[in-house]
Amino acid sequence: MIIIVFLGPPGAGKGTQAELLAERYNLVHIATGDIFRRHMQNNTDLGRKIKEILERGELVPDDITVKIVEQEIKKHMNDRGVILDGFPRTIVQAKMLDDMLKKMNLNINLVLYLKVSKHEATKRLLARGRHDDKPEIIARRFEEYEEKTRPIQEYYKRKGILVEINGEQSIEGVHKSIVAVVESKKLFDS
Ligand code: AMP
Repeated sequence: MIIIVFLGPPGAGKGTQAELLAERYNLVHIATGDIFRRHMQNNTDLGRKIKEILERGELVPDDITVKIVEQEIKKHMNDRGVILDGFPRTIVQAKMLDDMLKKMNLNINLVLYLKVSKHEATKRLLARGRHDDKPEIIARRFEEYEEKTRPIQEYYKRKGILVEINGEQSIEGVHKSIVAVVESKKLFDS
């Protein structure tokens, strides 16, 4: 099974691009933010526990997040591949993911870093207008990103699996750049 990770700040277009890529190559799209929001909507125990964290724009604890991702990956073991969107978001999560995959005899095949300026990302978030796309919450999400998520770039760069994509193109333009990278890596047969 192929594993692709999407990295990038809030508003980079990870969700949109992960969706397009999943469709194109018939992959499973695993978005931790979507899973958390679903739990909140369904008012599950987990949903109630994380509600305030999401409303502050902070990160859900690593152990909770990793457990959810592990369940999802295990569900799709027989699929062609998975895209992780919004995970990992801390170095601890990245290391726990590596350990988890090792036990399953898997590894990350490609990390796509969507590079966009803070200015462009903020503009997109404000236009999207999701519940947590309010100026104070956006500011907190960026802080969390800079402090906890940004270091992951270096972690994957050192492993030689990170590819940077210009995320400031049109949706179709970014998608084409990503497909070109995926094709050049020959990740899939057809
Ligand atoms: P997203 O939909 O990726 O923008 O995520 C929305 C929110 O869900 C984030 O602001 C975090 O509160 C939480 N979240 C999503 N993914 C993670 C993760 N990998 N680790 C911790 N919190 C996360």
